[in-house]
Amino acid sequence: MNIHEYQGKEVLKQYGVLVPEGKVAFTVDEAVEAAKQLGTSVVVVKAQIHAGGRGKAGGVKVAKNLDEVRAYASEILGKVLVTHQTGPEGKEVKRLLIEQGCDIKKEYYVGVVVDRATGCVVMMASEEGGMDIEEVAEHSPEKILKEVIDPAVGLLPFQAQRLAYAINIPKELVRKTVQFMTALYTAFVDKDCSIAEINPLVVTGDGNVMALDAKLNFDSNALFRHKDILALRDLEEEDEKEIEASKYDLSYIALDGNIGCMVNGAGLAMATMDIIKHFGGEPANFLDVGGGATKEKVTEAFKILLSDANVKGIFVNIFGGIMRCDVIAEGVVAAARELGLERPLVVRLEGTNVELGKKILNESGLNLVAADSMSDGAQKIVALVK
Ligand code: ADP
Ligand code: MG
Repeated sequence: MNIHEYQGKEVLKQYGVLVPEGKVAFTVDEAVEAAKQLGTSVVVVKAQIHAGGRGKAGGVKVAKNLDEVRAYASEILGKVLVTHQTGPEGKEVKRLLIEQGCDIKKEYYVGVVVDRATGCVVMMASEEGGMDIEEVAEHSPEKILKEVIDPAVGLLPFQAQRLAYAINIPKELVRKTVQFMTALYTAFVDKDCSIAEINPLVVTGDGNVMALDAKLNFDSNALFRHKDILALRDLEEEDEKEIEASKYDLSYIALDGNIGCMVNGAGLAMATMDIIKHFGGEPANFLDVGGGATKEKVTEAFKILLSDANVKGIFVNIFGGIMRCDVIAEGVVAAARELGLERPLVVRLEGTNVELGKKILNESGLNLVAADSMSDGAQKIVALVK
């Protein structure tokens, strides 16, 4: 789960990470009021959306007086920001962060992620922080330094120190940087983050080390033990279909392609996406209906696929183990009856009650194409959507 920058900064502050004073604003008047209360000569008006790259897209503006705050707030609120992380459709700005202007001496980068290759948390840092870190990662990856953190002992002071020296933090600020990194790591572990990215981390004119941006992602499977974090969820930032899917406990992730997939088991779902791509198609989603899905769950899953206008055809690929093929068939038929089905549907069923499942589908009057195997099904649906 993702949260907004201003929320991320509140979380980090609890752990002793230094952040600028700021307030969230939902209207232009609130923005001006927040700037008044901050009382600094320069404030920054920042679009709050669940995507980075806002600065380059015009979503971060430095205001030198209240009139400018009003002007920038009016300009940014309601604007659809298109950044390299939003996709071409962009995201509408509904909240602003009004924040103290910071006297930046230099921008750095610090990120904490779960690294699957080492199976450990890794802290990364770079001297080339700011808005072009993606380019640094692509063209000069040697400028990004890494420390692999042993989960049993956590981030050791010498590791943080090594990173701080490697990115050329001024010597007199190394101690503060080590404290910053330690606090960031503690927050990451404590709150079950999957990403904690500070870009930029800045050294300020008055000799402080501060987070000017904060991107925190949380492991959804751990949210049950972080009610405070769950309360920060902003449904308006999430994909509607994904929200709907989470209500029914379906694992669903929207993608850019046009072939809707309904599969059981995460492994089979991945393999199905692979085989669609192998035959030249593009999956519209990852969808795992799970092992013990009911007819209602399957119906909802199928509805989610049908509600996506990008979906030009559907491939149902089910291996009935615990899941019974007849239950899947009933769900598919119920959803198709309710919503109508004009798009091509290819079904491949195998396993428990497969004959009964096929019978239900055949007698339903639905216009569907049966497939004998996974690759047969994938080839058929790819051909049908073309
Ligand atoms: P994004 O990463 O989405 O572009 P950031 O929060 O990193 O957004 O802001 C972009 C840039 O704006 C930063 O790299 C920094 O130079 C500047 N900036 C952001 N917040 C402040 C602030 N409070 N004071 C001064 N400059 C800021
Ligand atoms: Mg940033």
